[in-house]
Amino acid sequence: MRFTALGGCSEVGANAYHLEIDGTGILLDAGIHPKKYGLESLPLIEVVRRKEIDAVLISHCHIDHLGALPVILKYFPTPRVFMTQPSLPIAMRMLHNTVTVMGRLREEKGIEEYPFYTHEDIDLVAPLFQPMDYDTPFLIPANYGSRTSHVEVEFLDAGHILGSSGIMIRSDEGKVFYTGDTCRHDQTVIKGAMYPEEQVETLILENTLCASVDAERKRRGSEILRLAAEIQKVAARGGSVLIPTFALGRTQEILAILDQLKTRNRIPDIPILVGGMGRVFSKIYDRFSLQTRRKDPELLFKEIATKKIGPKTQLTEKLVKDPSIVVATSGMLSEKTPANRLAQAMLEDPKHGIFFVGYLDEDTPGARLLNATPGEDVVLDSGEPPRIRNCDVQSFRFSAHSHRGEILQLIESLNPRKVILVHGDAGAIGWTAETIRQNYPGMEVIVPKAGVEVTL
Ligand SMILES: [Zn+2]
Ligand SMILES: [Zn+2]
Repeated sequence: MRFTALGGCSEVGANAYHLEIDGTGILLDAGIHPKKYGLESLPLIEVVRRKEIDAVLISHCHIDHLGALPVILKYFPTPRVFMTQPSLPIAMRMLHNTVTVMGRLREEKGIEEYPFYTHEDIDLVAPLFQPMDYDTPFLIPANYGSRTSHVEVEFLDAGHILGSSGIMIRSDEGKVFYTGDTCRHDQTVIKGAMYPEEQVETLILENTLCASVDAERKRRGSEILRLAAEIQKVAARGGSVLIPTFALGRTQEILAILDQLKTRNRIPDIPILVGGMGRVFSKIYDRFSLQTRRKDPELLFKEIATKKIGPKTQLTEKLVKDPSIVVATSGMLSEKTPANRLAQAMLEDPKHGIFFVGYLDEDTPGARLLNATPGEDVVLDSGEPPRIRNCDVQSFRFSAHSHRGEILQLIESLNPRKVILVHGDAGAIGWTAETIRQNYPGMEVIVPKAGVEVTL
């Protein structure tokens, strides 16, 4: 068995991992780096071109796991691409939206290699996508030579976003479990992850929050009450609240939380505005409400009163006049996104609030804003002048990832011989590596380097 990471090493980057198991080539995820632009954002395509790929397995449809898929498929005409049933419509919308975003970045930032693929390219590869049920093992068809594959795959609910999966791979060479992005605890909309009950030889483990003591200590319930209190303060002084989020997953969790708070009169009944892609994904959440594991299967986003985010100029005026809550992408305030533009418009007015609800990578506009003190200049877009931070800026924890205590519980229960640490910064991976070495001396810890093959 051989493993090669093509990205996602000591960072949350272009997650893509090649696994050669029992003569079968598998690519686990095909992401693009969420913070980089242009060719730099792709996984190591040169390395993947030298490999064989019989199947691509997509754990979930966040862009750091899916965005490079059409690029990789250009080199491999025949592999099947397996994902869960709910992931299929999400993947199509996410990839088409990525074409649009790349086209805009080409114009606004002059990145000539964009778009990596077109709407037509996506339509041409879409017939390779195969939606599969959760908890239902299937064999990977071998494409190369005449051999028959004996590699069996099963998707287990990862509790991270709609359609997310942990991927169990069974073969004569042993069992491998890839966590994808995993969340052991329940969120407001979806229930926590399901894990294999059998022992695995190799665990490929995400580490997003393993450097954070805070993530382990903060309780969801008290964070929800704190959010309500802070929204009340902003609304009482006539301001608006911006909640920057990913359109997929976090937007739906926040909408469900806001709806609960409104119903219980914990926040005032002010309008909630939601961006276009957030609305698209909410519809897909509704479509699968009875087929996926939900805290409340009767919760439907179409029944939560929201408004569309309107044109930029009107919106800025509106937010100054009428208090509202705006849920807009991107979660880290990436440049040229609706949330970034709104934050620039709201930043200098002390009555407004900008509330972060997710993981902020260092060196993103979101992290710069959160770390700025009141009255300090902040640059949210490299092409725009700095602005003074006068508004209220807060950060809340509504994580869609397991905290480090939960990651350790998983290691304990699966009891693997080898653990490959991915999808986390150097601090997070370092903490997990050290903790495993101390607590499980017989377990081999592998911290992969991009492009370097490891024999398992
Ligand atoms: Zn994710
Ligand atoms: Zn991820």
